[in-house]
Amino acid sequence: MSHARSLLWSAATCRRFAVSASLAVRRRSPDRAAQPAFSTFSQPVTLPITSLDLPLVGVIDLEAKVQGENTVADFKTVGSAPDGHEAHMSDQLTAYKLAKPQVERSALWVLVKTKEPQILWQPTIRTGDQLAEYLAKVGYIAREITAGRFYKRPGMWCAWCDYLPVCLGDKRKAQESLVTVT
Ligand code: SF4
Repeated sequence: MSHARSLLWSAATCRRFAVSASLAVRRRSPDRAAQPAFSTFSQPVTLPITSLDLPLVGVIDLEAKVQGENTVADFKTVGSAPDGHEAHMSDQLTAYKLAKPQVERSALWVLVKTKEPQILWQPTIRTGDQLAEYLAKVGYIAREITAGRFYKRPGMWCAWCDYLPVCLGDKRKAQESLVTVT
């Protein structure tokens, strides 16, 4: 298996890419209290991190001024109401904060696809200790993958993972769909 010359920032939990959010969320009117004053969608970011051998790359779903605060947000679509801890535990939001240290707040913007659909806004913050903890995890996993040790974490997210052909052992499709980033 060849290894990409960069780290996708969801690599800390698996190798799936930080998928850009549900277009449904973008098209629906969000909670009025959370209406963004400006917005940039789907921003590609490459982060050189001194403690890592490879750059950390990904896509920020949304950067916006929300309720007067510079905010980065990750869109999610779920089938049932979240518990409320998700934003605090989100590796993607931690990576967003690393990419945009100047932002005041991070948030999940969640489309709940229940019978009565809802859009939930889950703001959170990241401390320096949390950023350091995340980088330690990414570094550990990157070294493991580079050494050829990788465990699959199959789930519904495999459906939108760029590495699915690799995990399925489909070499032809992997060669067609993946590129090596130097
Ligand atoms: S296909 Fe599934 S198990 Fe394989 S890297 Fe992607 S998310 Fe992980």
